Amino acid sequence: MVTEQIKIEVNDFATLFFNEVVTFICSQKAKRWGKLPYYLKLDWSERRTRSWYRYRTEHNISIAMIRYYRPETSKDDLFDFHEYKTFNSDSHIGGFAADNWQIVMKTIICHELAHAMAPYDAHGFEWKRCYRILREEYINPFLDKTLKMSERKPEILSRDQQLYENHCSIFGMKKEWFNQFFGDGKENYKVVGWMPRARKYFVKVQRLKDDKSFIMEPKHVIQGFKLKDTEIWNPRV
Ligand SMILES: [Zn+2]
Repeated sequence: MVTEQIKIEVNDFATLFFNEVVTFICSQKAKRWGKLPYYLKLDWSERRTRSWYRYRTEHNISIAMIRYYRPETSKDDLFDFHEYKTFNSDSHIGGFAADNWQIVMKTIICHELAHAMAPYDAHGFEWKRCYRILREEYINPFLDKTLKMSERKPEILSRDQQLYENHCSIFGMKKEWFNQFFGDGKENYKVVGWMPRARKYFVKVQRLKDDKSFIMEPKHVIQGFKLKDTEIWNPRV
């Protein structure tokens, strides 16, 4: 679980970096850059999946924090950061593998700040130029180029699997559980997806005997997998 203390520390980390980059952008002499955002919103809601820059009404950057705070990230459990398909393979502004979550969180802040620099350009030429400047300054020199993204292509992951993988560890569940069976002692189920907008019942499961779909609380799925490690669970696969 992410404690309040952790949130404060991670928020400080993100805010400090945001301020540093804003100062850098202001120090550049380039013309015709958009207005910088008034503030950075750090949203820890479990229902948030995307970060954004808004300029019409609020003029702020909002970061989906739980997607980027992944303390388990290490050399053995890499963080695959994917950019949009159209430029994911670009060597300067594309996706990469990281062994720490901090660099990924910094990257998404750069991505959103580039939107502030080129607000009417979506992911077009001018936005890419701005993002490239920030990436070269703050991210690319610090990437470990020897780390390789996992073989799995993001495009072939279903939306359900992506959502599940992005959120599961926050609740103490494991990525490997996707598509795996577990039981509650009576029935057996398979993990098949994630409901980001749910209040409590986030996990989509399918009952083994009839393929009927249900939604469950993460804690019940965890219990099911714990049970699986004991002798009690007897899958009828
Ligand atoms: Zn974007």
